[in-house]
Amino acid sequence: MKRMVLAGSALVALGGCAAGQPYTGVEAGPTAVAESPAPAVVAPAAIPVPDNVLLADWTGPYGGVPPWDQVKLALFPEALQFAVEEQRREVAAIADNPDAPTFDNTIVALEKAGQRLGRVGTIYGLYTNNLSSPEFQAIREEWDPKLSAASDEVTLNPRLFQRIKAVYDARQGLGLDAKQLRLVEKTYESYVRNGANLEPAQKEQLATINQQLASAFGSFSNKVLADEGKYTVAAAGQLKGLPQDVQSAAKSAAAQRNLPAGQYAIVNTRSAVDPVLTFADNRALREKVWREFVNRGDNGDANDTNATIAQIVKLRADRARLLGYPSHAHWRMQDTMAKSPDRAMDLMMRVWPAAVAREKEEVADMAALARKSGFKGRIEPWDYLYYAEKVRKARYDLSQEELKPYFQLDNMVQAMFWSAGELYGYDFKENTGTVPVFNPDVRTFEVTNRKDGSLVGLWYLDTYARPGKRSGAWHSAYQPRIRLLGDDLVLNSNNNNFTKPAPGEPVLISLDDANTMFHEFGHALHYLTIDVNYPTFAGSQRDFVEYPSQVNENWLMTPEVLNRFAKHYKTGQPIPPALVAKIEKAKTFNQGYATVSYLSSALVDMKLHLKPDGVVDPDAFERTTLAELGMPREMVMRHRLPQFNHLFASDSYSAGYYSYLWSEVMDADTWAAFEGAGNVWDKTIAGRFKSMILQTGNETDRTEAYRAFRGRDPDATALLKRRGFPTN
Ligand SMILES: [Zn+2]
Repeated sequence: MKRMVLAGSALVALGGCAAGQPYTGVEAGPTAVAESPAPAVVAPAAIPVPDNVLLADWTGPYGGVPPWDQVKLALFPEALQFAVEEQRREVAAIADNPDAPTFDNTIVALEKAGQRLGRVGTIYGLYTNNLSSPEFQAIREEWDPKLSAASDEVTLNPRLFQRIKAVYDARQGLGLDAKQLRLVEKTYESYVRNGANLEPAQKEQLATINQQLASAFGSFSNKVLADEGKYTVAAAGQLKGLPQDVQSAAKSAAAQRNLPAGQYAIVNTRSAVDPVLTFADNRALREKVWREFVNRGDNGDANDTNATIAQIVKLRADRARLLGYPSHAHWRMQDTMAKSPDRAMDLMMRVWPAAVAREKEEVADMAALARKSGFKGRIEPWDYLYYAEKVRKARYDLSQEELKPYFQLDNMVQAMFWSAGELYGYDFKENTGTVPVFNPDVRTFEVTNRKDGSLVGLWYLDTYARPGKRSGAWHSAYQPRIRLLGDDLVLNSNNNNFTKPAPGEPVLISLDDANTMFHEFGHALHYLTIDVNYPTFAGSQRDFVEYPSQVNENWLMTPEVLNRFAKHYKTGQPIPPALVAKIEKAKTFNQGYATVSYLSSALVDMKLHLKPDGVVDPDAFERTTLAELGMPREMVMRHRLPQFNHLFASDSYSAGYYSYLWSEVMDADTWAAFEGAGNVWDKTIAGRFKSMILQTGNETDRTEAYRAFRGRDPDATALLKRRGFPTN
């Protein structure tokens, strides 16, 4: 059943580059406790559905698509109310069924429940991420807690749980196949983990905590969004060193904000800030922009998130205690591959010292070079990217600006398609204009199987930044392929925040951005490929989900992709082999910075959520923890706590930011398999990856799926090698 998808859509969608897979770990499934005869389905009495487009079945091509063009904010309250009530009736019919509980009348029936709420939730989730206006935020404020309550009402329903438990207890004698058995176990475990076994008074307490958390999450993300709407004003004279396209973007950002001519606006998001930190010769401007960015949510004003974080961490610790776990981290990690905080910490601490050591070498290199140019002070955090770029240029004769003309956004989209065609036999054909979209700039593509032309799904691309759209890049799942529900076409999207160019101008992106596009497209390919019977299995464990996306990044830098798609935007010439060789040579450059920036965030996350009492002063906790870890003074966390959406905009990546590293162990080890074959386009390996890893969703244990694919467990050596760290 899709009941968590609502909470889930906020969940999924809010967490960073979240995969958007409605993995909830809840959901139920099918067959008879006793060898009961045909299950008696207790149909809810027919209640007329209000005339509200959010409640209507999706119609049109591809088995029906979301009616984005007809959504009005005023329709949400009625739609949410009705869908929640309908789910309540559906669940009551299952819980109060007079027949003995069976796999079909309990577990399968639950899998089918809440579909309308799931559809409304998909649209609600889109507004949360892509179209969040003050008017919508007011709706969320009311409805996030109500949706949390609706979800708890299901999990904490004692009659329902009794039936699930009855099926679970009898499961071995029911003649279930392996997937059905797994469904029963996953369902039961999830209900227990989420409080189904608690006493009534505790259940009430739990539901209250969950509602308070839902409110706090909304409040956190609104505040961060507000601080990301800020900008730093600069004059033309301060922009020395900035590439032309960055200056143009700052100019159009200023115009959009009605600033006087001659002024430039550096918007407070990573994609606008990083180029300034990398290229601006004006040190004072760099410092100003840097401070504004790293202090999002931390300015002691109306948008300050520290109190919200303290509240969230405390509520989480209370909830974990109520549920019988030593900490929020222990609770969150129950249904992960790592299984315990210790194992995640072990992996992180295996990499951390090497990363810090490399960072110190990088700083020494930068300091030496900076001194040569007459710089007297110390390298400060706002100097890091600037001097790193200078070292890159000096050592590898390579500048990011030299690369940019070869990485045109549209060409990279075509590169992603081509690569998916070679590996998985998918074709993508643009059909923008034939289906509704939620913004005129959104493009749509029909996905088909090359071998027989059969339809796979519909993929949306929302490329440009705009007010109300959260920062970063992510994948959103609108509809998975679920055989039980008759949904065999997938609907999903990728979302970026590139600056929209003037009409007719190309969008040139950095190599990092191209990499991010391949990453998010890896999530999309995973989701397009998942083919399962039950909604519960249409997702992945949190520390598995970044594996397919990270693997997909690898194909970007192959000669086959570069020669075809990395073409100069003016001359059309492919990127020169000498330049590719330089990129290859500089592959592990600045990995100290990248790794420390990521890992410090992941370590602080885990340590914060290991606190049993959950009592923290976020600012002080961050400072002390970083000092204990030996955080280099020239660096900050990639996401400081006051703006860490992964952790505080939902539960999704809380005690889970380590997942990227966990997934990367499998990714690097998988890429080693492709390289080992002597051809990274090897159709046999790609086919095995598709059928064993991608297609299976969460139908089988992921550790075993990996073992089946690779013939052994993943080996972390490949990851250390890739980052250029010592492997001993
Ligand atoms: Zn991702």
